[in-house]
Amino acid sequence: MKISLAVVASSLTVCSVLAQENSVEKAAISELPSLLAIYKDIHSHPELSGHEQRTAALVAKELRAAGCDVTENFGRYEQPNLKCYGVIGVMKNGNGPTVLVRTDMDALPVQEDTGLPYASSVTTKNDDGMDVHVMHACGHDAHMAAFIGTARLLQKMREDWSGTIIFVGQPAEEAIGGANALLRGGLYNRFGKPSFALGFHDKADLQTGHIGVTPGYTYANVDSVNLTVRGEGGHGAYPHKTKDPVVLSAEIINALQTIASRENNPLDPVVVTVGSIHGGTKHNIIPDEVKLQLTVRTYKPEVRERVLADIERIAKGCAMAADVPADRMPVVEVQKDGLPATYNNPDLTKRLVAVWKKILGDANVDIVDPTMGGEDFAEYSLPDHSIPAVDFHIGAVDPEKIAQYKKEKKELPSLHSSKFAPVPEPTIKVGIIGMTSAVLELMKSK
Ligand SMILES: [Zn+2]
Ligand SMILES: [Zn+2]
Repeated sequence: MKISLAVVASSLTVCSVLAQENSVEKAAISELPSLLAIYKDIHSHPELSGHEQRTAALVAKELRAAGCDVTENFGRYEQPNLKCYGVIGVMKNGNGPTVLVRTDMDALPVQEDTGLPYASSVTTKNDDGMDVHVMHACGHDAHMAAFIGTARLLQKMREDWSGTIIFVGQPAEEAIGGANALLRGGLYNRFGKPSFALGFHDKADLQTGHIGVTPGYTYANVDSVNLTVRGEGGHGAYPHKTKDPVVLSAEIINALQTIASRENNPLDPVVVTVGSIHGGTKHNIIPDEVKLQLTVRTYKPEVRERVLADIERIAKGCAMAADVPADRMPVVEVQKDGLPATYNNPDLTKRLVAVWKKILGDANVDIVDPTMGGEDFAEYSLPDHSIPAVDFHIGAVDPEKIAQYKKEKKELPSLHSSKFAPVPEPTIKVGIIGMTSAVLELMKSK
């Protein structure tokens, strides 16, 4: 009798778990028509980083309609004259953990070339006063639609969870540090420090219907370095009377390659790219200086610190070898707007993978390789990763398209490409299911 009761009890638990999984999918499907309309509306009205006025108002309106207590225009940039369009929606439901759910809201200065009926034709002036086209070329529009869907579902499913959800509509993911601005504005002081932080991003080479995730480091530390190579200019015909910064720059650029190839443990990923070099005005003038711009990508903090120091040492060493006077040594400036690496807490990742496999099927959840890209989602887990966080991927590409590109040995349009747009369905639905089921797992009340 005891045994059969246990069997009944456990099968009831299984039934209720299954019922919840089905109800997440059903509820997501019922919200889809209105979310697809919202997605297309946001897609055709993209706004650049730091200018997300219309988008933020729309997200705020939808979070309010979903039952959140909403704060608008939240956050503070380092530049005091910039208005921050952060949207914070708090959904309280009794005692329990606090979970942060983040979407980004900004678009990019890209001229859309997708041919979609709802393609953007928006143009604006960028912060330097240049005329630019604007496009949601990173899929943040799909994130917002899935984020709004998640808020709606969790409101409907209040009986299944308890605690507090902080929905964060983040501006300026692509530039000027939106996550940082929210934290500087007192996100955790005002709304509470979360027990967990969750984010998602569409993936331009993962098939729609799938969730992908990387345990541990998933995105890199990103540092921008300005390197001014100084010499002593003069006539191009009399190089012996100069210290030529052009030749010295060439030496430095080659020597920088040895950071990754000779100085670094090959098991620690490092990228040092010189993306820009400018110097001189004319064939026969040796300039006084050459300006280089570098992007530096690493994972571990100690590797980051060492690589940045290596750049300075190599630049100065090359300058000394070229007999540049001590007061004309290269100037190395590491910009303050560097991003920390995004680290997916391995235990939390494992827990969520198990949930997603149950709801989507084993074959639709992929462990994917990390990348050397950057994401300011990292900021939410704090520099010491003390808030367990996971930033997962939502597949966004038609599987037939992936197969066709593979057959033709072509690269799929990447994020930020003028030809990139997620397939809205089922990408948005899977985003909602992935985020909602993750929150329910962390906040389940039974
Ligand atoms: Zn992007
Ligand atoms: Zn993005």
